[in-house]
Amino acid sequence: MNKNYIQTAEEALLHTYNRFQIVLEKGAGAYLYDVNGKEYLDFAAGIAVCSLGYGHPKYKEALKNQIDELMHTSNLFYSVPVVNAAQALKKASQMDRVFFTNSGTEAIEGALKAARKYAYTKGTGKYEFIAMNHSFHGRSMGALSVTGTEHYRTPFEPLISGVKFAEFNNLESVKAQITDKTCAIVLEPVQGEGGIYPAERAFLEGVRALCDEQDILLIFDEIQCGMGRCGTMFAWQGYGVKPDIMAMAKAIGNGIPVGAFAMTEKVAEHSLAPGDHGTTYGGNPFACAGVDAVLKIFEKEHILEHVQKVSVYLEEKLDALVKSSDVVEARRGKGLMQGLVLKKPVGDVVKKALEHGLIVISAGGNVLRMVPPLVITEAHVNEMIGKLSKALEEA
Ligand SMILES: *Cc1c(COP(=O)(O)O)cnc(C)c1O
Repeated sequence: MNKNYIQTAEEALLHTYNRFQIVLEKGAGAYLYDVNGKEYLDFAAGIAVCSLGYGHPKYKEALKNQIDELMHTSNLFYSVPVVNAAQALKKASQMDRVFFTNSGTEAIEGALKAARKYAYTKGTGKYEFIAMNHSFHGRSMGALSVTGTEHYRTPFEPLISGVKFAEFNNLESVKAQITDKTCAIVLEPVQGEGGIYPAERAFLEGVRALCDEQDILLIFDEIQCGMGRCGTMFAWQGYGVKPDIMAMAKAIGNGIPVGAFAMTEKVAEHSLAPGDHGTTYGGNPFACAGVDAVLKIFEKEHILEHVQKVSVYLEEKLDALVKSSDVVEARRGKGLMQGLVLKKPVGDVVKKALEHGLIVISAGGNVLRMVPPLVITEAHVNEMIGKLSKALEEA
């Protein structure tokens, strides 16, 4: 059955991915099933999206109810879900104003525009961005411009001008890129695609201080590391370093395509005004019903406390694997965002893991990435370790 679907897919879809030869059909909890009924323990969660796992009853109910009520209104009107979701996200993010988008990339685009508009309104003449090497912020022309991996950018140049790159976790390198034209510094508190690199606290504190001294805005991309993944609602809350603008997406909708950027009042009062930015779908009632449901479930089911607990267990088990396996060189990560540095080609290990019914993905060059649903249990961790150990051996 897989074969027919795959052939049709390969004839119809643009070849922008090297997809696994698997056709997924349904999910339940931390498991996915393909059209042949094969079961997979999912330690990727649709790339850090499906934090509540698959088929959460309260989440499904909220979406089904919203389909019956109203799907779309445009941003010319308020709807009950956008009011509820904005209020809930404002509280969870500790930001003052929220703008809903359809994706992470769009959230970054909005954040960059918000920073440029802030400088414009204040008449500072600042327009430059500093971004980090190995960062990932999306594939649109703006988001690509601040993405710190050259091979993603090169075919599409010239991109937006005024972007400089610094070394992540190297304050001197950031300092060296600052000019009197620097308008914002953009970074992921824990770099995801680039290879799972958590920021050091001193680095974030140092960048924050530089921004404060020179009226530079600090933009955090929390698209992957946010929404509970690192044990706090947003990763910056664990560091105690608050950004001026932040981008969110992925897990805020648990599978509904939705993102958001948010900012403090200090920024908002000098930034985007009516006519400066917009979107047809962003903040539509269906997407916002999803966001509101996700945030309610987080609170009701104490998801953050659960992540704090189960991630300690995961880290212990992964550290033991680093010790016992000569294929695994090191572990990096925070909470349920973990990477294993491998001595074997990661692609081979990922393929072997799939054969054993385990979904893991890669990040950077040689890093095996785990971003499981936040609701995994210790039993899931044990099952993962069993399957991964076999895959590491056989790959
Ligand atoms: C996934 C991701 C993006 C892009 O989000 P999309 O929803 O794919 O547009 C941007 N930044 C980070 C850190 C991401 O992980």
